[in-house]
Amino acid sequence: RTVYVNGDYLPEDEAKVSVFDRGFLMADGVYEVVSVLDGKLLDFDGHLARLNRSLDALEIANPLADADYLAAHRELVARNGITDGLIYLQVTRGNPGDRDFAYPPKDTRPTVVMFTQSKPGLADQPAARTGWKVASVEDLRWGRRDIKTVQLLYPSMAKMEAKARGCDDAWLVEDGKVTEGSSNNVYIVKDGVIVTRELSHDILHGITRAAVLRLAKEAQMRIEERSFTIAEAQAADEAFATSASAFVMPVVGIDGVSVGDGAPGPVAKRLREIYLEESRKTAI
Ligand code: PMP
Repeated sequence: RTVYVNGDYLPEDEAKVSVFDRGFLMADGVYEVVSVLDGKLLDFDGHLARLNRSLDALEIANPLADADYLAAHRELVARNGITDGLIYLQVTRGNPGDRDFAYPPKDTRPTVVMFTQSKPGLADQPAARTGWKVASVEDLRWGRRDIKTVQLLYPSMAKMEAKARGCDDAWLVEDGKVTEGSSNNVYIVKDGVIVTRELSHDILHGITRAAVLRLAKEAQMRIEERSFTIAEAQAADEAFATSASAFVMPVVGIDGVSVGDGAPGPVAKRLREIYLEESRKTAI
Protein backbone atom coordinates (compact mmCIF):
# COMPACT_ATOMS: atom_id res chain seq x y z
CA ARG A 1 0.00 0.00 0.00
CA THR A 2 1.19 3.51 -0.81
CA VAL A 3 0.72 6.08 1.95
CA TYR A 4 1.19 9.86 2.09
CA VAL A 5 3.53 11.50 4.59
CA ASN A 6 4.31 15.22 4.42
CA GLY A 7 4.14 15.48 0.65
CA ASP A 8 5.74 12.12 -0.17
CA TYR A 9 4.05 8.99 -1.50
CA LEU A 10 5.82 5.99 0.00
CA PRO A 11 5.38 2.26 0.50
CA GLU A 12 3.80 1.93 3.95
CA ASP A 13 6.87 0.23 5.46
CA GLU A 14 9.13 3.12 4.39
CA ALA A 15 6.95 5.93 5.77
CA LYS A 16 8.36 7.59 8.88
CA VAL A 17 7.13 10.02 11.55
CA SER A 18 9.23 11.31 14.47
CA VAL A 19 8.85 9.61 17.86
CA PHE A 20 8.69 13.18 19.26
CA ASP A 21 5.62 14.06 17.18
CA ARG A 22 2.98 15.38 19.57
CA GLY A 23 0.39 13.29 17.78
CA PHE A 24 2.22 10.20 19.06
CA LEU A 25 3.14 11.52 22.53
CA MET A 26 0.02 13.56 23.37
CA ALA A 27 -2.74 12.72 20.88
CA ASP A 28 -2.22 16.32 19.74
CA GLY A 29 -3.83 16.16 16.34
CA VAL A 30 -7.01 15.80 14.36
CA TYR A 31 -8.30 13.50 11.66
CA GLU A 32 -10.96 12.91 9.05
CA VAL A 33 -12.28 9.82 7.30
CA VAL A 34 -13.73 10.13 3.80
CA SER A 35 -15.55 7.27 2.09
CA VAL A 36 -14.80 6.24 -1.48
CA LEU A 37 -17.48 4.68 -3.67
CA ASP A 38 -16.73 3.77 -7.31
CA GLY A 39 -13.37 5.55 -6.94
CA LYS A 40 -15.01 8.86 -5.96
CA LEU A 41 -14.90 10.85 -2.72
CA LEU A 42 -18.09 11.34 -0.70
CA ASP A 43 -18.84 14.73 0.87
CA PHE A 44 -15.19 15.76 0.55
CA ASP A 45 -15.86 19.49 1.03
CA GLY A 46 -17.74 18.85 4.27
CA HIS A 47 -14.88 16.83 5.70
CA LEU A 48 -12.30 19.45 4.70
CA ALA A 49 -14.38 22.22 6.26
CA ARG A 50 -14.52 20.28 9.52
CA LEU A 51 -10.77 19.56 9.33
CA ASN A 52 -10.19 23.30 9.14
CA ARG A 53 -12.49 23.91 12.13
CA SER A 54 -10.73 21.24 14.20
CA LEU A 55 -7.31 22.67 13.34
CA ASP A 56 -8.44 26.22 14.19
CA ALA A 57 -9.82 25.08 17.55
CA LEU A 58 -6.40 23.61 18.43
CA GLU A 59 -4.42 26.50 16.87
CA ILE A 60 -2.63 24.17 14.48
CA ALA A 61 -1.72 26.04 11.30
CA ASN A 62 -3.02 24.06 8.33
CA PRO A 63 0.08 23.24 6.27
CA LEU A 64 -1.81 22.48 3.04
CA ALA A 65 -4.34 24.17 0.79
CA ASP A 66 -7.72 22.48 0.29
CA ALA A 67 -6.73 21.66 -3.30
CA ASP A 68 -3.63 19.82 -2.03
CA TYR A 69 -5.76 17.56 0.15
CA LEU A 70 -8.06 16.81 -2.75
CA ALA A 71 -5.13 16.05 -5.07
CA ALA A 72 -3.54 13.77 -2.45
CA HIS A 73 -6.80 11.91 -1.86
CA ARG A 74 -7.19 11.32 -5.59
CA GLU A 75 -3.57 10.29 -5.94
CA LEU A 76 -3.96 7.71 -3.14
CA VAL A 77 -7.18 6.34 -4.66
CA ALA A 78 -5.40 5.94 -8.00
CA ARG A 79 -2.12 4.53 -6.66
CA ASN A 80 -3.89 2.00 -4.45
CA GLY A 81 -6.58 1.09 -6.96
CA ILE A 82 -9.38 1.88 -4.50
CA THR A 83 -12.89 1.31 -5.83
CA ASP A 84 -14.75 1.23 -2.51
CA GLY A 85 -13.06 2.10 0.76
CA LEU A 86 -11.90 4.84 3.05
CA ILE A 87 -9.23 7.51 3.16
CA TYR A 88 -7.86 8.38 6.56
CA LEU A 89 -6.28 11.82 6.94
CA GLN A 90 -4.46 12.99 10.04
CA VAL A 91 -2.77 16.28 10.90
CA THR A 92 -0.75 16.37 14.10
CA ARG A 93 1.11 19.29 15.61
CA GLY A 94 4.48 17.74 14.83
CA ASN A 95 7.35 18.80 17.08
CA PRO A 96 10.97 19.44 16.31
CA GLY A 97 12.17 19.39 19.92
CA ASP A 98 11.80 17.98 23.39
CA ARG A 99 8.58 16.81 24.96
CA ASP A 100 6.88 19.80 26.55
CA PHE A 101 3.27 20.56 27.52
CA ALA A 102 3.59 24.01 25.91
CA TYR A 103 3.01 24.06 22.17
CA PRO A 104 6.15 24.25 19.99
CA PRO A 105 6.86 27.53 18.09
CA LYS A 106 4.18 28.76 15.68
CA ASP A 107 6.33 28.01 12.63
CA THR A 108 6.53 24.29 13.49
CA ARG A 109 5.37 22.26 10.54
CA PRO A 110 2.50 19.91 11.36
CA THR A 111 2.73 16.29 10.27
CA VAL A 112 0.27 15.20 7.59
CA VAL A 113 -0.42 11.52 7.04
CA MET A 114 -2.97 9.93 4.72
CA PHE A 115 -3.67 6.31 3.89
CA THR A 116 -6.34 4.20 2.24
CA GLN A 117 -8.34 1.20 3.39
CA SER A 118 -9.91 -0.90 0.67
CA LYS A 119 -13.46 -2.06 1.55
CA PRO A 120 -15.03 -3.82 -1.42
CA GLY A 121 -18.82 -3.56 -1.29
CA LEU A 122 -18.70 -0.82 1.36
CA ALA A 123 -22.21 0.43 0.50
CA ASP A 124 -23.57 -3.11 0.77
CA GLN A 125 -22.51 -3.84 4.33
CA PRO A 126 -24.34 -6.99 5.55
CA ALA A 127 -24.75 -5.18 8.91
CA ALA A 128 -27.08 -2.68 7.23
CA ARG A 129 -29.52 -5.50 6.53
CA THR A 130 -29.55 -6.87 10.08
CA GLY A 131 -28.85 -3.66 12.03
CA TRP A 132 -26.62 -3.12 15.04
CA LYS A 133 -27.26 -4.07 18.63
CA VAL A 134 -25.83 -1.48 21.00
CA ALA A 135 -24.95 -1.30 24.68
CA SER A 136 -25.14 1.85 26.77
CA VAL A 137 -21.82 2.91 28.31
CA GLU A 138 -21.12 5.96 30.45
CA ASP A 139 -19.65 8.82 28.39
CA LEU A 140 -16.34 9.65 30.08
CA ARG A 141 -14.75 11.57 27.19
CA TRP A 142 -13.43 15.13 27.47
CA GLY A 143 -15.62 18.22 27.01
CA ARG A 144 -14.70 19.20 23.42
CA ARG A 145 -16.09 16.31 21.43
CA ASP A 146 -16.85 18.70 18.57
CA ILE A 147 -13.12 18.74 17.78
CA LYS A 148 -12.21 15.59 15.88
CA THR A 149 -9.02 14.75 17.76
CA VAL A 150 -7.04 11.53 17.48
CA GLN A 151 -7.62 11.03 21.21
CA LEU A 152 -9.74 7.91 20.73
CA LEU A 153 -8.88 5.75 23.73
CA TYR A 154 -12.19 6.14 25.52
CA PRO A 155 -14.36 5.43 22.45
CA SER A 156 -12.14 2.38 21.92
CA MET A 157 -12.70 1.23 25.53
CA ALA A 158 -16.46 1.80 25.17
CA LYS A 159 -16.51 -0.26 21.98
CA MET A 160 -14.65 -3.09 23.76
CA GLU A 161 -17.16 -3.01 26.59
CA ALA A 162 -20.04 -3.14 24.09
CA LYS A 163 -18.40 -6.12 22.34
CA ALA A 164 -17.89 -7.89 25.67
CA ARG A 165 -21.65 -7.46 26.18
CA GLY A 166 -22.34 -9.10 22.80
CA CYS A 167 -23.10 -5.83 20.98
CA ASP A 168 -21.85 -4.11 17.85
CA ASP A 169 -21.35 -0.63 19.29
CA ALA A 170 -21.69 1.54 22.39
CA TRP A 171 -24.20 4.34 22.89
CA LEU A 172 -22.56 6.82 25.22
CA VAL A 173 -24.64 8.30 28.01
CA GLU A 174 -23.98 11.46 30.02
CA ASP A 175 -26.28 12.90 32.70
CA GLY A 176 -28.87 10.28 31.75
CA LYS A 177 -28.97 11.32 28.09
CA VAL A 178 -27.43 9.69 25.02
CA THR A 179 -24.65 11.77 23.48
CA GLU A 180 -23.58 9.68 20.47
CA GLY A 181 -22.20 6.29 19.44
CA SER A 182 -18.53 5.37 19.80
CA SER A 183 -17.92 6.73 16.28
CA ASN A 184 -21.29 7.85 14.95
CA ASN A 185 -24.24 10.15 15.61
CA VAL A 186 -27.45 8.53 16.82
CA TYR A 187 -31.18 8.97 16.20
CA ILE A 188 -34.52 7.55 17.23
CA VAL A 189 -37.82 7.69 15.38
CA LYS A 190 -41.13 7.93 17.23
CA ASP A 191 -44.52 8.51 15.59
CA GLY A 192 -42.78 9.62 12.41
CA VAL A 193 -40.52 12.19 14.09
CA ILE A 194 -36.74 11.79 13.82
CA VAL A 195 -35.07 12.79 17.09
CA THR A 196 -31.34 13.48 17.35
CA ARG A 197 -29.26 15.39 19.87
CA GLU A 198 -28.68 19.06 19.12
CA LEU A 199 -25.18 20.25 18.16
CA SER A 200 -22.91 21.50 20.98
CA HIS A 201 -19.45 20.76 22.37
CA ASP A 202 -20.90 17.45 23.63
CA ILE A 203 -20.91 15.65 20.27
CA LEU A 204 -19.04 15.54 17.00
CA HIS A 205 -20.80 17.55 14.31
CA GLY A 206 -21.13 14.65 11.90
CA ILE A 207 -20.80 15.39 8.21
CA THR A 208 -23.17 12.50 7.53
CA ARG A 209 -25.55 13.87 10.19
CA ALA A 210 -25.74 17.21 8.35
CA ALA A 211 -26.37 15.51 5.00
CA VAL A 212 -28.97 13.08 6.36
CA LEU A 213 -30.92 15.82 8.20
CA ARG A 214 -30.91 17.96 5.08
CA LEU A 215 -32.19 15.05 2.96
CA ALA A 216 -34.80 14.14 5.59
CA LYS A 217 -36.09 17.73 5.53
CA GLU A 218 -36.21 17.70 1.74
CA ALA A 219 -38.26 14.49 1.96
CA GLN A 220 -40.72 16.32 4.29
CA MET A 221 -39.77 14.21 7.31
CA ARG A 222 -40.17 15.80 10.73
CA ILE A 223 -37.04 16.37 12.83
CA GLU A 224 -36.55 17.30 16.49
CA GLU A 225 -33.05 18.21 17.66
CA ARG A 226 -32.93 17.35 21.36
CA SER A 227 -31.38 14.77 23.65
CA PHE A 228 -33.11 11.55 24.69
CA THR A 229 -32.66 8.77 27.25
CA ILE A 230 -31.89 5.09 26.73
CA ALA A 231 -35.43 4.29 27.97
CA GLU A 232 -36.94 6.60 25.34
CA ALA A 233 -34.78 4.99 22.66
CA GLN A 234 -35.82 1.48 23.75
CA ALA A 235 -39.46 2.53 23.46
CA ALA A 236 -38.98 4.19 20.05
CA ASP A 237 -40.34 2.81 16.77
CA GLU A 238 -36.83 2.64 15.35
CA ALA A 239 -33.27 3.81 15.85
CA PHE A 240 -30.23 4.36 13.68
CA ALA A 241 -26.72 5.78 13.57
CA THR A 242 -24.82 7.76 10.93
CA SER A 243 -21.15 8.12 10.02
CA ALA A 244 -19.01 8.58 6.93
CA SER A 245 -18.16 4.88 6.83
CA ALA A 246 -21.40 3.27 8.13
CA PHE A 247 -23.63 5.74 6.20
CA VAL A 248 -27.06 5.19 7.79
CA MET A 249 -26.98 2.10 10.02
CA PRO A 250 -30.17 0.74 11.58
CA VAL A 251 -29.99 0.03 15.33
CA VAL A 252 -32.30 -2.83 16.32
CA GLY A 253 -31.50 -3.46 19.99
CA ILE A 254 -30.40 -1.38 22.98
CA ASP A 255 -29.17 -3.07 26.16
CA GLY A 256 -30.93 -6.30 25.21
CA VAL A 257 -34.27 -4.62 24.42
CA SER A 258 -35.53 -4.78 20.81
CA VAL A 259 -36.31 -1.45 19.19
CA GLY A 260 -39.64 -1.62 17.34
CA ASP A 261 -40.01 -5.12 15.94
CA GLY A 262 -36.26 -5.76 16.20
CA ALA A 263 -35.62 -5.33 12.47
CA PRO A 264 -34.27 -2.31 10.54
CA GLY A 265 -37.04 0.29 10.34
CA PRO A 266 -38.51 1.96 7.25
CA VAL A 267 -37.18 5.46 8.03
CA ALA A 268 -33.61 4.21 8.50
CA LYS A 269 -33.81 2.10 5.35
CA ARG A 270 -35.23 4.97 3.30
CA LEU A 271 -32.65 7.47 4.60
CA ARG A 272 -29.85 5.02 3.84
CA GLU A 273 -31.09 4.69 0.25
CA ILE A 274 -31.56 8.43 -0.23
CA TYR A 275 -28.19 9.21 1.36
CA LEU A 276 -26.30 6.70 -0.78
CA GLU A 277 -28.06 7.79 -3.96
CA GLU A 278 -27.36 11.47 -3.29
CA SER A 279 -23.77 10.81 -2.19
CA ARG A 280 -22.96 8.82 -5.31
CA LYS A 281 -24.44 11.64 -7.43
CA THR A 282 -22.42 14.39 -5.73
CA ALA A 283 -19.18 12.39 -5.21
CA ILE A 284 -16.08 13.96 -6.74
N1 PMP B 1 -19.39 11.01 16.38
C1 PMP B 1 -18.17 10.50 16.62
C2 PMP B 1 -17.67 10.43 18.01
C3 PMP B 1 -17.38 10.03 15.54
O1 PMP B 1 -16.16 9.55 15.77
C4 PMP B 1 -17.91 10.07 14.23
C5 PMP B 1 -17.14 9.53 13.06
N2 PMP B 1 -15.93 10.12 12.87
C6 PMP B 1 -19.19 10.61 14.04
C7 PMP B 1 -19.91 11.06 15.14
C8 PMP B 1 -19.80 10.71 12.68
O2 PMP B 1 -19.21 11.75 11.94
P1 PMP B 1 -19.15 11.71 10.35
O3 PMP B 1 -20.55 11.57 9.87
O4 PMP B 1 -18.58 13.01 9.98
O5 PMP B 1 -18.30 10.53 9.98
